[in-house]
Amino acid sequence: MQKYVYYFGDGHAEGNATMKDILGGKGAGLAEMTNIGVPVPPGFTISTEVCTYFYANQRTYPPELKQTVEENLARVEKSVGRKFGDPAQPLLVSVRSGARASMPGMMDTILNLGLNDETIQGLAKSAGDERFAWDSYRRFIQMYSDVVLEIDRAHFEHELVAARERAGAQSDAQIPARELCALVERYKAIVRKESGKDFPQAVNDQLWGAIGAVFQSWNNQRAITYRRLNRIPDEWGTAVNVQSMVFGNMGETSATGVAFTRNPSTGERRFFGEYLANAQGEDVVAGIRTPLPISRSQGAGAAQSLEEAMPQVYGQLEDVYRKLEGHYRDMQDIEFTIQSGKLYLLQTRTGKRTGFAAVKIACDMVDEKLIEPREAVERVEAGQITQLLAPIFDTAEKQKALRGERLLGRGLPAGPGAAAGRVAFNADHAVAMAKDGPVILVRIETSPEDIAGMHSAVGILTTRGGLTSHAAVVARGMGRPCVVGAGALRVDYGRGELRAEGHGPLEEGDWISIDGTTGEVISGQIKTRPSEIIQVLLEGSMKPEQSEVFRNFQRLLEWADGIRTLGVRTNADTPQDARVARLFGAHGIGLCRTEHMFFADERILRVREMILARDGEGRRKALAELLPVQRADFEGIFRELAGMPVTIRLLDPPLHEFLPQTEGQISTVARDMGWGFVELRAKVNQLHEMNPMLGHRGCRLGITYPEIYEMQVRAIFEAACEVKQGGIDVHPEVMIPLVGTTKELEITTEMVRRVAAEVFKERGVEIPVVVGTMIEIPRAALIADELAQTAQFFSFGTNDLTQMTFGYSRDDAGSFLPEYVEKKILPKDPFESVDQEGVGQLVRLGTERGRATNARLKVGVCGEHGGDPDSIRFFRTCKLDYVSCSPYRVPVARLAAAQAELEFKAYEG
Ligand code: PEP
Ligand code: MG
Repeated sequence: MQKYVYYFGDGHAEGNATMKDILGGKGAGLAEMTNIGVPVPPGFTISTEVCTYFYANQRTYPPELKQTVEENLARVEKSVGRKFGDPAQPLLVSVRSGARASMPGMMDTILNLGLNDETIQGLAKSAGDERFAWDSYRRFIQMYSDVVLEIDRAHFEHELVAARERAGAQSDAQIPARELCALVERYKAIVRKESGKDFPQAVNDQLWGAIGAVFQSWNNQRAITYRRLNRIPDEWGTAVNVQSMVFGNMGETSATGVAFTRNPSTGERRFFGEYLANAQGEDVVAGIRTPLPISRSQGAGAAQSLEEAMPQVYGQLEDVYRKLEGHYRDMQDIEFTIQSGKLYLLQTRTGKRTGFAAVKIACDMVDEKLIEPREAVERVEAGQITQLLAPIFDTAEKQKALRGERLLGRGLPAGPGAAAGRVAFNADHAVAMAKDGPVILVRIETSPEDIAGMHSAVGILTTRGGLTSHAAVVARGMGRPCVVGAGALRVDYGRGELRAEGHGPLEEGDWISIDGTTGEVISGQIKTRPSEIIQVLLEGSMKPEQSEVFRNFQRLLEWADGIRTLGVRTNADTPQDARVARLFGAHGIGLCRTEHMFFADERILRVREMILARDGEGRRKALAELLPVQRADFEGIFRELAGMPVTIRLLDPPLHEFLPQTEGQISTVARDMGWGFVELRAKVNQLHEMNPMLGHRGCRLGITYPEIYEMQVRAIFEAACEVKQGGIDVHPEVMIPLVGTTKELEITTEMVRRVAAEVFKERGVEIPVVVGTMIEIPRAALIADELAQTAQFFSFGTNDLTQMTFGYSRDDAGSFLPEYVEKKILPKDPFESVDQEGVGQLVRLGTERGRATNARLKVGVCGEHGGDPDSIRFFRTCKLDYVSCSPYRVPVARLAAAQAELEFKAYEG
């Protein structure tokens, strides 16, 4: 017969910590604590399989369940020496839900179950405290009515307040017994009126009512929403824990509390928590009374700490927490109750923590010899370490602002970190205003034209666009805090206003603060400072010895490097970005987007002249002026990444991105080029494309305007020769974008080799010429075997590959993708985390086909997915050689690559 119920008590449990799937997190924790000798009140867990059965069988239970529950209840009765429903010595129980993963939003707890008009007398007598008994009864009716009978709790709260007033009491604890007794009668009247029935007096009805409510709560709206947001499968189900009660409200030597074995926000190794004397669990959470600190070392309220008030129990609690940490070898989050001076543990689970705490705890536990470096690497969620790099808001100030109703709205958290500055509505203003202080660039969306403005801004806010919109990609690359797609905000460029409902309009120059870690947009200025890691690594304004955060960060990543086999490169377009990435541990550049160099300063004018030139000669003249600046860019990058590979992609975006857009820009360019305004406008219109992303871009440009690619190749190899002649090792790799046919690759590769040979001849230096291709058109993945006969490397451009495989525009998908994810049409945004089923299949297949004809083919990824931990895990299974990501994602990729390695090894055995 299948086992549905698991007993725990008297130092022995039928379950243990490994059985979370069927016992839920809470049940597994109670079983394990019982087994290792931590004091736990006896009880039993009804397994998650009953929940599954319940939903598969029209909300009924397995036939044998009733009897099994009775048998287990009898064991509990025997253990505590009381009987369920016995008027003289009643056993009371708590009934609590407990899924595999902790799920706030589900029914949680009913306490004091088993009380009725008879057993209350027995409880009063055996505790020798009438007030305590009536208080327990009124709490029970209140909780049961709320979660099982679903009666609006406001009715009860209203009566409680009235009782407090009648008694002239400051707190619930001061309401005398006779008033509580009258309150119970009033509560029962509410139940009768609202549900049409009397409050259940039969204890077994109470018990089964509560068990049913827990299973029902698995499918309440809050639980469903929570599961969706946290990707918890609907099939998991919840367990139910029935446990004998212990009382924290039996007078001043009783208490209840919650604690973390280490500080969950900083990771500091210090017992940390709160308690309330003479109270039950829900009082701590309800926030009616302010809880007191557990340890003296917590500072505020030290004199009233548990350590002072009950030193002996505190000592026991310390022993228990050490035992639990030693046993679980991780930071624990515990719940405890003290009944008349005796300690009981009611819950233990792995404590949730910030990125800062995760890194510190992992490193400290290695030093304490609790875990191996390999486990430290596994413990820290890769995405969490970006928190350590972000500028930080002063927490107290932010809370004050939120309480003061300064929250304007929320968007997608696109670039982590906090930033405060003055609003600038366009890039030029941002550049100008940045001279006088921090600026937040606020746009409907951004385009390559805004780069300079984005660079001079401390943060970027857009009201449209998703996580791979231009603003998001560039901001992450720059390490700028960024919030995108804040749809509730309205930018009116014409009036120069930012509007949010319920707030006055913000004008240019007004202060605004954005939190790119949470997506919050707040009016006014909240103070920030750069992270310690940036101060040590990039600014040099702090020494490693001064920053423990930095030292731990560095240690963890070095351990990760020792494990991973997947290389980590960076997407960088400037020597500055390359330097940042190198300091963060990148081993080379996987994608240098040369077009970004064309937007800077005076260059855009030359680029426009080149595109708009009447003939080849005009084009060559403009290109000749661009050549030295491109060469200088490459030289800077080669020097910065001495000895490491640098993959440079030839020009990719559609020409229209470079064209003057406004009449003002057209007239400036016309004047510079000596053209008439009307003539130039006609030329601009002629070059206009209906669908530029699928238009004249990538290698199509290089084939139809060969002068452009020739200039770029010349610049690359002249720079390489120059740097090599200076004694620095260089490894350029030339990458052709948007290849879809073998011929395209052959023509462009031949051109690269020809121009490189010319340069070598002129300079008298030879450098190995490595040419490869982006794989970002589905057709390229399919003909990878042919392409690999020409290409020496592949780099999957998963941004375009996703766009073209799904047929979703990268720039417009924000208008429907969130709803698609909400409706479960897609599990997640495929521009954020690679779609393994479809796009991923092309990556796997392209790699296999490519290697089939060219065993030495190097394969990497340079789309945004290169910095996404889930995608990295997948790329490892495709046996890629490296991932390439924005500089500030490099640490995440290093850690994720190590975790991917450990998982892959475990999977392969
Ligand atoms: C890509 O398409 O994935 C890529 C890296 O190129 P870009 O984002 O510049 O189009
Ligand atoms: Mg691309």
